[in-house]
Amino acid sequence: MSAPFKVGLIGLGTVGQGVVRVLQRNAAEIAGRAGRPIVVTHASVRNSTRTRDCDLTGITLVSDPAEIVRADVDVVVELIGGISPARELVLAALEAGKPVVTANKALLAEKGNEILFTARKHGAQLAYEAAVGGGIPIIKALREGLAGNGIDSLAGIINGTCNYILTQMTVKGQSFADALHAAQKLGYAEADPTFDVEGIDAAHKLTILASIAFGMPLRFDAVATEGISQVTAQDIQLAQELGYRIKSLGIAKRGAQGVELRVHPTLVPVEHLLAKTDGALNAIRVHGNAVGQTVYVGRGAGGDATASAVVADLIDVARLQGADPKHFVPYLGSRSEALKDQKVLSFSEIESAYYLRLRVADEPGVLRAITSILAESDISIEAILQKEPGENEDATLAIITSEIPEHRCNGALEKMLNLPFVRPGASRLRVEHFE
Ligand code: NAP
Repeated sequence: MSAPFKVGLIGLGTVGQGVVRVLQRNAAEIAGRAGRPIVVTHASVRNSTRTRDCDLTGITLVSDPAEIVRADVDVVVELIGGISPARELVLAALEAGKPVVTANKALLAEKGNEILFTARKHGAQLAYEAAVGGGIPIIKALREGLAGNGIDSLAGIINGTCNYILTQMTVKGQSFADALHAAQKLGYAEADPTFDVEGIDAAHKLTILASIAFGMPLRFDAVATEGISQVTAQDIQLAQELGYRIKSLGIAKRGAQGVELRVHPTLVPVEHLLAKTDGALNAIRVHGNAVGQTVYVGRGAGGDATASAVVADLIDVARLQGADPKHFVPYLGSRSEALKDQKVLSFSEIESAYYLRLRVADEPGVLRAITSILAESDISIEAILQKEPGENEDATLAIITSEIPEHRCNGALEKMLNLPFVRPGASRLRVEHFE
């Protein structure tokens, strides 16, 4: 067998340690698949006193991550996360013509166009399967397995923290704050959860998926994002009674008016596979114009699950070492000259069905006034649920609308909130039927 393929790891945290373990555990199969052994020879850490949950025998540890770029390695694996110094390190490796494997969705979504330009210019491989969906091979599925399709839409549960919180709220009836606290105690959520619960992490991942699906440059700036912190246990309960589960989805769609890129809490019909994907799992639904619907489910995070994707990239890179760059699978699935920027619609321009929850005084004529506003606004009602109040309490109305432009929904909601018997604090969430 040929000489080992030498790996330099920048970062030896959750994923870095997973990569060391998986390469060691499956060494024989991996060598058989790559045509040569793949071994970690160098790794960089910040804190040299921290114990690592992997066998570091034979690995040269360094403290300066730039040393990994300069070291005698065949590939640089960036696993530190964030923009800087990850960006500078990745660019330096690519400029030196070294292949790079990364799991860093933030870096790719925000600086990906610059990074891909540099990779192309220097004929260097760049692989990033672990950046979306952890261990789910969704990049390979989109870029290669579905390459014969026009992709119409994709929708995914691509943030495990949000899915865990919403599942806790559904199963245990917990408030958002209590479910977040539980997620933090189990290590599913960071001490500062903003990145996850406000949808930024999912927007990073959606940016990457949409570029491959629609053959467009990375447009993180254009993703319309709403977090899950406004979802209440009552919304979850009412949605269930109406036949839906609430999930935080990243949605990308292509239509006559432009492309939709959005992340927000969404009502999903209970019978859909996405509605049944619970806990910290991820699931992505892709609709292609030849294959129809395909769904990919699995662990979106965790050391070994994410390492599964990093190691698959390493095998691909090892197989193509020394090959003419024209034989690489294009970074975003389409050749650079075929990538085309497209108009991305804002929230106000999209069409969707909506769930509206209103708190209203328990008086005669309320329902008539509300349904009149909907009729005047040319909004059909798909379902309506009225919850009778307890003594001295307000009643609750939950409505599912037909598919309408968002500005029309907002206009009708504003009129309803101006009615004297409608209390402040309505809820408005989008509904997705996957038709
Ligand atoms: P992590 O556990 O925080 O590990 C980060 C590693 O990078 C640590 O070894 C740390 O050194 C080192 N590091 C951090 N900042 C550094 C800096 N400025 N200079 C030099 N070294 C630095 O992170 P992770 O969870 O493994 O995530 C790594 C990447 O994978 C991120 O891009 C993340 O988004 C992505 N990812 C993670 C998962 C997951 O399940 N964790 C899933 C998918 C994708 P010390 O150990 O010495 O502190």
